[in-house]
Amino acid sequence: MRDLSQLYTFEKLLEEANNALVREGIKRGLHSIGSVCSLAPEPLLNLPGCFSVRLRAPRTGSIDIGTYYMSSLLCECCRAILERAVEGGYQFLDCIIAPDACSQMNRCVENIEHLNCIENAFVSYFDAPMKSDETALRHYVRQMQEHVLKPLYEKLGVDISDASIRKAVEQHNQICCVLQELSEYRKEENPRITGYEFAVLCTATYCCPKELLIEKLTSVAEELKTRKPDEKPAFRVKVVVAGSEIDDPNLIQLIEETGARVVADRFCFGALPEREPIVLNDAEDALTQVCRHYLKIGKCPRYMNAEKVLERQEYVRQLVQEYHADGVIYQQMKFCDYWGYERAYASKTMRETYGVPTLSIDRPYVTGISGQLRTRFQAFVESLEIKKRGI
Ligand code: SF4
Ligand code: SF4
Repeated sequence: MRDLSQLYTFEKLLEEANNALVREGIKRGLHSIGSVCSLAPEPLLNLPGCFSVRLRAPRTGSIDIGTYYMSSLLCECCRAILERAVEGGYQFLDCIIAPDACSQMNRCVENIEHLNCIENAFVSYFDAPMKSDETALRHYVRQMQEHVLKPLYEKLGVDISDASIRKAVEQHNQICCVLQELSEYRKEENPRITGYEFAVLCTATYCCPKELLIEKLTSVAEELKTRKPDEKPAFRVKVVVAGSEIDDPNLIQLIEETGARVVADRFCFGALPEREPIVLNDAEDALTQVCRHYLKIGKCPRYMNAEKVLERQEYVRQLVQEYHADGVIYQQMKFCDYWGYERAYASKTMRETYGVPTLSIDRPYVTGISGQLRTRFQAFVESLEIKKRGI
């Protein structure tokens, strides 16, 4: 397949947190809002006059300082982000909005705050619900009012009106619609987009001002309309990847180098279901509708009620069917408690109840060159291939 002409541009955007579009946004007078979790509804961090940047730590080397402050028994993603903050990598932020969802990430942000890593930035924490019923919705709305909208208005002068939220949802939906269009190509027998390419494009939508990214993304969609895949597919099997957040497309590339095509992404920083457009009506305020949408689509293992647990497993099974996958890779960042439990239970259900071949692994934050992971993926791909051929 011919390379996507914009791929390099998107790859460059992922090479640093303070990328060219972030710098351009700040130059235009926009406020940059740091985000660390998918439970912070993105449109509320992208109200007119500001844009969200989901924190990542690209090109991470040593995480010694992060480990010194957080211990070696906490998630490497959190340690890498703290390390990057101490190095001064997030100085461009005006604030960080952090849910009290994953306590490890919370500890990371608390350290960033206490060590005063980002000059002139404030931090606001909110409590994220653990259920998705009407009581949880009321709580969520209140938390958003008190700990997201109020500080954005009082400290940065952001317009938090209903009209402003609707405008942000409109922009959010533009991005979602383009990504949905691209995602549909992954259902093709011989997809015209690789999992790595999709991951690069999708990850960038979390890390750049949306108003500056949309044109580039639309031009990729235009190019893909006529892109022809190689006649002989460059993959032997198709897989769904699920689990804890993947903010580095190199992990997807590593999987694809072993002969798989990643056709669906059920992890934070992925598109499923986070890039589902938000449908608003005029009968109810936008904030409540946005919160309801996030409660409804939420697939974080923090939701521990039985219905949500089953819903998550059923959702992954549906992805396997819809995207014609041969198996699932459940991956979990080492020391992540939520995904530790979820991965163990869900991968057993996939194999034993649904009959879906499943690889279950834990992994470090930096994975691009891991020989051990490559061997695990290779073995899984071979087992799927054998099953497919009925050998
Ligand atoms: S897995 Fe859950 S807690 Fe972790 S980033 Fe995603 S939504 Fe947040
Ligand atoms: S991988 Fe797990 S522990 Fe790490 S930030 Fe995400 S949810 Fe928290």
